[in-house]
Amino acid sequence: MRLLLLAPPGAGKGTQGERLADWSGGRHIAAGDLLRAEARAGGRLGREIAAYQTRGDLVPDQIVLDVLTPSVVEAAAHGGYILDGFPRTLPQAVAAAELAVRLGVTLDTAVYLYAPEAVLTQRLLDRASQGGRSDDVADVIQHRLRVYAETTGPLVPYYTERGILVAVDADQPPDSVTAAIQARVSGLTRAAGR
Ligand code: ADP
Repeated sequence: MRLLLLAPPGAGKGTQGERLADWSGGRHIAAGDLLRAEARAGGRLGREIAAYQTRGDLVPDQIVLDVLTPSVVEAAAHGGYILDGFPRTLPQAVAAAELAVRLGVTLDTAVYLYAPEAVLTQRLLDRASQGGRSDDVADVIQHRLRVYAETTGPLVPYYTERGILVAVDADQPPDSVTAAIQARVSGLTRAAGR
């Protein structure tokens, strides 16, 4: 299975990504985690990535592609993947589609998780109070939500036009979200005769 999760900060991409990877046998590829690991590794590239992440700005597309492509290529050859947080811009989506064609493995489904902005903000603030990430502070959270709306939001019509978008309400308990995604994805797979 080759699936991507498209969702604003706080919608639960990471939680659902791990569960879906266990369920499908594919690999969970979390863009934010891979970029944070690269940032921790230091060096010039690491410091550059850390600066973008701390501000809540997107890391430039070429850096993201350089960091993520090897993992995607490897996962594509071994049981598929759940992409969490990639692609996140139209140029990344186009590059990912070109890569998929080159590998002969196209994306099955784009799962869009949606929730009201007040719910997302509250979840991120709750995570911050439990010792969360350095980008979980009020003004950076607001900035991340704005960047999402402007830059990642356009991927919803992009994947809708390609006929692979499934929208799931993320404003419900994690188990219900997982069940809703699984029901929709299984239904699609059956309908496609796969
Ligand atoms: P969230 O979705 O809650 O913001 P992530 O861990 O997915 O959490 O992303 C954290 C940060 O990592 C983003 O604010 C951005 O700086 C960077 N990032 C993650 N994925 C991408 C991507 N595909 N393109 C550019 N930057 C990214």
